[in-house]
Amino acid sequence: MDKRDAESVKQAIGCPMSRRKFLRCLAAAGALAAMPGGLLRSFDAKAGKIIYEGDYEIYRNACPRNCYDTCSIKSYVKDGVLQFIEGAKESTFTDGGLCVKGYAYTRRPYSPDRIKYPMIQDGRGSGNWRRISWDEAMDMIAKKLVEINDKDDSMLGLGLTKYSGNFGITNYAVEGMMTSLGYTTRLVGTPCWPAGIDAQNYDLGDMWCNDPEDMVNSRYIILWGANPAWNSVHTMKYIYAAQDRGAKVVCIDPVFTQTAAKADVYWQVDTSMDGALALGMARHILDKGLFDKAWVEENSVGFNEFADYLRNEITVQWASEKSGIPQQQIVEVAEEFAAAKPATIWIGYGLQRHVNGGATVRSIDALAAMTGNVGKTGGGARYGHMRTWGFNYHALLQKRPEGAKGFLGGKGPKGDFDFSGDEEAEYTDRALNINKTAEMLLTADDPPIRVLWISCKNVLSQDFDRPRMLEAFKKPELIVSVEQFFTQTVELSDIVLPVTTLFEESTINASYWHYWLSVNEQGIKPMYEAKSNTEIAAALSARMNKLKPGSCTFPTEVDTRQWMIKEFNQDIYDLFGIDSWQDLKKGPAKAKMHPASWHDLEFGTPSKKYEFRSDLCAQHGHQALPKFKAARKPYDKLRLLTPHTKFGIHSQFINIDWMEEFNKKPYCYLHPTAASERGITDGDQVRVFNKVGEVELEVKLTQNVPADVVMMYEAWFRNNAYNCQNVVDDTSSDMGKYKTGAPGVAIHDQFADVEKV
Ligand code: SF4
Repeated sequence: MDKRDAESVKQAIGCPMSRRKFLRCLAAAGALAAMPGGLLRSFDAKAGKIIYEGDYEIYRNACPRNCYDTCSIKSYVKDGVLQFIEGAKESTFTDGGLCVKGYAYTRRPYSPDRIKYPMIQDGRGSGNWRRISWDEAMDMIAKKLVEINDKDDSMLGLGLTKYSGNFGITNYAVEGMMTSLGYTTRLVGTPCWPAGIDAQNYDLGDMWCNDPEDMVNSRYIILWGANPAWNSVHTMKYIYAAQDRGAKVVCIDPVFTQTAAKADVYWQVDTSMDGALALGMARHILDKGLFDKAWVEENSVGFNEFADYLRNEITVQWASEKSGIPQQQIVEVAEEFAAAKPATIWIGYGLQRHVNGGATVRSIDALAAMTGNVGKTGGGARYGHMRTWGFNYHALLQKRPEGAKGFLGGKGPKGDFDFSGDEEAEYTDRALNINKTAEMLLTADDPPIRVLWISCKNVLSQDFDRPRMLEAFKKPELIVSVEQFFTQTVELSDIVLPVTTLFEESTINASYWHYWLSVNEQGIKPMYEAKSNTEIAAALSARMNKLKPGSCTFPTEVDTRQWMIKEFNQDIYDLFGIDSWQDLKKGPAKAKMHPASWHDLEFGTPSKKYEFRSDLCAQHGHQALPKFKAARKPYDKLRLLTPHTKFGIHSQFINIDWMEEFNKKPYCYLHPTAASERGITDGDQVRVFNKVGEVELEVKLTQNVPADVVMMYEAWFRNNAYNCQNVVDDTSSDMGKYKTGAPGVAIHDQFADVEKV
């Protein structure tokens, strides 16, 4: 960065948007009120007058952080410095507004805490970091990679763990880099949503949800294990609009959330008993003859068997006893749901994080299907979709080096989200379960993971069984983290490479929820010495080829904008009704898709119908029918829940200084009854402990959580040792392997106790 740039940045950090002004502007724009799910408005009030003064270069960006909303962003740059951003008005979904996290984005590239240069730590975990040049960093890494290839006669000793820190499509260059080095070890699967993906694939043949904007057409909305007032603020406006038009909103969640506060009916369901509740509702709908007979006859298989199961094994009384919801309420809501046309269910990502999570999602799908609400506008069992992700994956699809050897015995497809192997190749990558990373690192042998590469992921904050992970992190000979901040993962790495923010790179972003596509333009030069993941791959390739010609096929020079352009194809243009990617510079485009998933009633299952009975599911070792599956047996006195926080996404955002204004430190939440039984009062310092480990923090008493629950939010705080993964183990959920390569994690089937310290 030259002197003039540095001066401009310095000015930008203080002006025009200071921390106080940020808070004032949010208040003026109604965003503070909007955060829990109030109306979203663009900056057109007091703030607008301040921030629109002057001439700006305007760029298009997209929030890439694994949020439902994947907001389209307009960025305003002056003198090479990002001044402020706003939601793009062209997207009816983003509708000119961001969440409070989004409005703090300008602090991200200019954060004083940002990793500025490649650095090496003398002694893993010692804190003795020193700056090195990119050449030195690449040289050290490349020498190690050549060494392990010479030693093992393959690159399987190189392991990659990557997830959702940046979902920009060109970030698949990380996987492309691995491929271009040979056959490597990949931590595969997803910690997020796998059990539900498999469940929807068994029932419907794919995961595909209605357009969220279509929720406005719903006459009845069940928000089941979803908290959009915090996690998808832009969808709330459609829920409110539906309510305004007379729709009833039911929220089902063990925790009384801010979404629950906006609902017409709230059910505090007993944790992991959602499947029982869905089946109890289904039984009542069946008994009353309220199911859609014509729909199930024409469009489904196995309904009669499902009906027999309900009649023989399920009663409303049983469902009530299991779920804690009174029988009369189950009956009322079941009847209303069946009668309202169309009715929809939003299946939140909390539901499938249980040992019976996949079975639960199948029971809820069945409820939507038997009432004829699948394939209808305003209807649907909404979970997510990947229908707008048909890119070229140019960054991902690199060639192996000549003569590369790999893992024998891993042939065959391992799921849609697993890029770890070529189906027909003699060799494959080695695929290990990402949700058991600690165990995999400790037990992988022949060869062991000698080098661990971490990208778009804060393993030590987000992965499970952290005490064991700390042990596992002692094992690799070299750990390389690609990061923007000194996370807990970087603290236990040997080399850290600074990576660009969304404003400093070019890419494209699609959503797994809405139907919009956004281009992400580079509007500012990379700060300090940051490089994009694509550029890092190129730099490593250059060094590898210098050391050992032909050892890496990744191009040695790339232009991130050109690589972004390479991801487009005619199908994408046709789907989004654009002639060229350049059209996206005028604003995001919406896919020309019917708002109702499965509107043609051509399902992707083997029978091409909705499958109440899935033989494929049975072949995969599960129950063919959406039957109740038992919950995990408690191993401690309280249930432990670790949901998403309002002010962050996983471990992201809370470390940004402006966000710290809202969320200065972590707390655990306890019901007053549970607290008094333990002699705990509000504000006490407590220890949350179980067989996995412990966490010490301040307690807040609240009736929003059930009396048998202790709750903490998953998050990473700057300068704070808090880590909820100290008390979360890596027990698998029931499904996920079919489509993602590995089962999910029963994140919400955890137990613990609390005591005052
Ligand atoms: S975190 Fe979500 S709601 Fe906030 S700006 Fe990003 S995509 Fe939008």
